[in-house]
Amino acid sequence: MSTLPDRVDLLIVGAGTAGAALAGQAARRGLSVLCVDRRALDDAGARWVNGVCRDAFAEADVPLPRGEELRGDDAGFHLLAGRGPERITMRGHGVLDVDMRLLVARLHERARDAGAALQGEVEILALEGRRARTSVGAVEADLVVDASGLAGLGLLPRRVPRADLCAAAQAVHAVADARGAADFLARYAAREGETVCFSGVAGGYSILNVSVHGDEVSLLTGSIPADGHPSGRAMLEGFVAETDWIGARRFGGHRAIPLGRPRDVLAEGHCAAVGDAAGQVFAAHGSGIGAGMTAARILAEEIAGGGGLDGYAVRWMRTHGGRFAAYDVFRRLSQRLTLEELRRLLRSGLLDAESAAAGMGQRLPRVDLARVRAIVPAAWRAGRLSARLAIAGARMAALVAHYARYPHEPSRRARWARRTMQITMQIHGGAQSD
Ligand SMILES: Cc1cc2nc3c(=O)[nH]c(=O)nc-3n(C[C@H](O)[C@H](O)[C@H](O)COP(=O)(O)OP(=O)(O)OC[C@H]3O[C@@H](n4cnc5c(N)ncnc54)[C@H](O)[C@@H]3O)c2cc1C
Repeated sequence: MSTLPDRVDLLIVGAGTAGAALAGQAARRGLSVLCVDRRALDDAGARWVNGVCRDAFAEADVPLPRGEELRGDDAGFHLLAGRGPERITMRGHGVLDVDMRLLVARLHERARDAGAALQGEVEILALEGRRARTSVGAVEADLVVDASGLAGLGLLPRRVPRADLCAAAQAVHAVADARGAADFLARYAAREGETVCFSGVAGGYSILNVSVHGDEVSLLTGSIPADGHPSGRAMLEGFVAETDWIGARRFGGHRAIPLGRPRDVLAEGHCAAVGDAAGQVFAAHGSGIGAGMTAARILAEEIAGGGGLDGYAVRWMRTHGGRFAAYDVFRRLSQRLTLEELRRLLRSGLLDAESAAAGMGQRLPRVDLARVRAIVPAAWRAGRLSARLAIAGARMAALVAHYARYPHEPSRRARWARRTMQITMQIHGGAQSD
């Protein structure tokens, strides 16, 4: 039976990457911290292989993964339109393949070493002011942070429409037939360790990634079922069933990822949210690990430095929010692309290795004279599609500028949020899901 402390400075709900990273960062800065998860701690957070930008580790002040935790280091990435032949190949994109079971365990260990208390199988049932009622007793907390993922605690206003939910799955299987795996790689001109990404394979925003590492194959799928596409899990299982060189499943998981813009409100009173619970997901490819860990660092710094929860909200929105909101515009565009349009995008060069690598690395694309010179003929080749991309690009830039002015005064935030909606509505011609 768990016993909880009577009172803590900071209660964190959820011991996934965002919650565990925050526990460590806050405890290191002298706060008394309790981080709880409704699952056993060995089962908390992501339990599969994720791609995480190398730079995010430095930004989040988390040492880079090594040994078995690091399953792939910036290997080649082949982005195909459907099953090809159109493709672009990215190298030096800066994304690492990380065994999340080991990263979450490492973050737990770092948090404990810093003095945080972590407890699994403790569910938050209700928050009554500063008192939290849990499945094993009550605890008083000066500050409460929702790091509970998509589930969310409902502390802050939030709604994730179905059209913004990506159903993703990831699994590592044995390679049952090395020759079959080698033939697959040869067919797609890929080397061992590299990723073959079939994009738009089920239409719109859908992918199937395949990478072979020795006697294992790593599969990642994702789609938006609200658009009428099969779920990531169904796509993954379908691919395994039709591929005879793939053998038994070793580990993996599936879940929904909240896409959409970050929440307009990240903190209110003595409550804040980080990670998926805050909508801090890079929507172009549904990536929330780096964002959650980075937000955790900013939150801990602001609490310890006197900026408080509100200081965190302003700093995160101003430095990261615009980029995340901007790439959600790109996500919505890609969601409506037909496979033929995606093919044209790649064929024309309008989406090239440089811009795709920027998206993979969660960076804004470079815009300078040389780039414009390269884009103009590509835009000509892409025809009407280039107009849609140009409008999206302009709105992305408008959102980046708008988020950089996220107001310090809470009283001005409703107006700011209305303007955010206006910019987004202009993008979608009035059709808006959030
Ligand atoms: C198949 C798949 C592949 C993905 N691939 C990538 C990728 O390549 N790169 C990337 O960056 N991201 C990827 N993501 C997204 C990424 O996994 C999430 O963004 C990330 O796990 C979010 O971390 P988090 O700590 O915010 O939430 P979570 O990992 O969801 O952790 C939340 C924790 O809170 C606990 N909890 C919930 N409610 C309560 C409660 N009431 N009381 C106590 N505890 C509670 C849960 O048990 C859970 O352990 C992928 C997601 C999926 C599903």
